Amino acid sequence: KPTVIIIGRPNVGKSTLFNRLVGKKLALVDDQPGVTRDRRMGDAVIAGLEFTVVDTAGWEDEDAETLPGRMRKQTEVSLEGADAALFVIDARAGITPLDEEIARWLREQEVPVVLVANKAEGKAAEAGIYESYSLGLGEPLGISAEHGEGVADLFGGLWPLIGAKAEEAETAAEFESEDDEEALSGPLKLAIVGRPNAGKSTLINQLLGEDRLLTGPEAGITRDSIAVDWEWFDPKANETRQIRLIDTAGMRKRARVVDKLEKLSVADARRAIDFAEVVVLLLDATKGLEHQDLKIASQVLEEGRALMVAINKWDIAENASSLFNGIREALNEGLAQVRGVPLFAVSAKTGKGLDTMLSAAFELREAWSRRVPTAALNRWFDDALEANPPPAPKGKRIKLRYITQASTRPPRFVVFGTRLDMLPKSYERYLVNGIRQKLGFDAVPVRVVLKSPK
Ligand code: GDP
Repeated sequence: KPTVIIIGRPNVGKSTLFNRLVGKKLALVDDQPGVTRDRRMGDAVIAGLEFTVVDTAGWEDEDAETLPGRMRKQTEVSLEGADAALFVIDARAGITPLDEEIARWLREQEVPVVLVANKAEGKAAEAGIYESYSLGLGEPLGISAEHGEGVADLFGGLWPLIGAKAEEAETAAEFESEDDEEALSGPLKLAIVGRPNAGKSTLINQLLGEDRLLTGPEAGITRDSIAVDWEWFDPKANETRQIRLIDTAGMRKRARVVDKLEKLSVADARRAIDFAEVVVLLLDATKGLEHQDLKIASQVLEEGRALMVAINKWDIAENASSLFNGIREALNEGLAQVRGVPLFAVSAKTGKGLDTMLSAAFELREAWSRRVPTAALNRWFDDALEANPPPAPKGKRIKLRYITQASTRPPRFVVFGTRLDMLPKSYERYLVNGIRQKLGFDAVPVRVVLKSPK
């Protein structure tokens, strides 16, 4: 992880900035100069950019006369390990001789410096910000550490300096991350949902290779629900895989009232969704896609699970290709949450198409679990904004700054910017579509949240 050191004369707000960056309560900060004592280090994150931040505030708590010398000495030691420095000035107080001295000294160092004009909220700070150009350290970034304003903009200053190193650390961490690895090497949690008589029990029996569940033309005559662990040889990947199958058909054993069954299949889906990573919605080729099926499918996606659709009873399907295309189109129209749900033709009875479907289920889980490195993500983001800049309603510019992937399984993204409440839905969709198409999340439900940095 890269290290960033906060430098500046006493009382410019270094500790407040430190606290802001590491997300802690504003403890230890006071209007009195030099109230913080210990040199502190913390884990900071701005818009997905992770680094270690060092607060040098405590070094000031010395005899004022020797302060510059002392600071220099201590800071020097710390600068050696730093990848970048945030040089903080007080925009309200303007530039003082001590600021100038520190700046002079910093210009001689090898560590790249980002000039931060703190306390920049409001008009009183304008002169100070302007004045700070004279320090010869480039363009100042105006922020208010106390109010959290502009802190996200530090990303723009820091990214060119430490982005590569942060990315390296991120990639390394990703390989080491037990969570992700465990999730992908653990059994695939798979649920099969669908309306009564779609063939769920038959499918599970076919997969498990034994007549473990009762099946029959009468809907819902399966045994109690269970999760079954089993090993499946994946011919495509040429390896044995673990699958944990959730049998929801069994879940409705106790309720056999026929007219309640439609409702129950939705309830089944809900329960299955809680367990599963990937959910297969099973359709009946002799019935096609009905409203109820779309409802279940939507529910799966709304819960953020990876969805696949399999058309069962393909062995007795009529007009196979137009049936398939019709269902394909209906899914595209009915499910705006994803682009192109993986669709398969299978026969639970003969076993045809099932290997292909299961291989795809593993691939889908991988996409659903994937993390896009911050740099690649922001490269795409910059391109997307350039190709189609956000609108300026009533002449006000909406600023989109950065994007970060907040989580996986399902993938969630956070876009940072200002005036986001004015961003039209159509533009949001443009971004979501871009993430799906350009970053490989086609069939995965993707969440995007807009956030104004605070
Ligand atoms: P469930 O209610 O979804 O569990 O459905 P079942 O597995 O009980 O199957 C309902 C009926 O469809 C049974 O009569 C099965 O024999 C039949 N069925 C299931 N899968 C297939 C298939 O792939 N082809 C054919 N021809 N019939 C199937």
